[in-house]
Amino acid sequence: MFIAGNWKLNCNIEEANDLASNILKNIKGKRINNEIVIFPPFTSLFSVSKIIKNTEIFLGGQDCSDNISGAFTGDISSEMLLDLGCKYVILGHSERRQKYNETNELIKRKSDVAQKVGLTSIICVGESLKDRELGKEKKVIEIQLKNSIPETSNSSNCIIAYEPIWAIGSGKTPTISKIIEMFGEIKQILNSICINDGIKILYGGSVNISNSFEILSNEKIDGALIGGASLNAEDFSKICLEANKLDGKI
Ligand code: PEP
Repeated sequence: MFIAGNWKLNCNIEEANDLASNILKNIKGKRINNEIVIFPPFTSLFSVSKIIKNTEIFLGGQDCSDNISGAFTGDISSEMLLDLGCKYVILGHSERRQKYNETNELIKRKSDVAQKVGLTSIICVGESLKDRELGKEKKVIEIQLKNSIPETSNSSNCIIAYEPIWAIGSGKTPTISKIIEMFGEIKQILNSICINDGIKILYGGSVNISNSFEILSNEKIDGALIGGASLNAEDFSKICLEANKLDGKI
């Protein structure tokens, strides 16, 4: 089971340190059989990495450049993330696709570079409400996957996060059967793109303390990418500990 907390553009260094420390405090002494990963903003990666070093919590970046170094003002490279102690990087989040016009091709290049330096890329895909109303959601996801997943992807360097855009931060979630239906499609498409040796598929979009157990207890769902609820140490820790009860789904 994989539980990821995307902190987005939140937390100064002190707040990020407190959040990480409190999550650690809440899970301390419990047998953790999940992969728990937090994604603080870039400015807090260094301090948080020191807090979570040698614990059950891993670190990830929220984005990275498709370049390794050079004249790219404002960018952070995958090597820099690795240097900061990151193991994962989120790529192609719908906020970056929509607000920064990130294309599938750019996401694929970023992912390729990230995987080459040894990071695991968590590639996000998801349809808009309009796509779903028009019955185009499967086609949209297919196009995103086929054009943003490097062919060299496999279960050790890639994770897919299915995040319907209309579910993010809205309090709305698809029914479990709709999520599972889409996961089936995603698996089939992955089989046609890369070595799909069991690439994990996460669900993301309004996962919270009230719905996490129901979502995560479905055996086809490998974990969750959590935004809002990951900013609350109590809630995020509870979700991780609840998921812990679902043995055998690591
Ligand atoms: C996200 O932004 O990846 C996300 C899933 O957000 P939330 O949990 O707040 O819907």
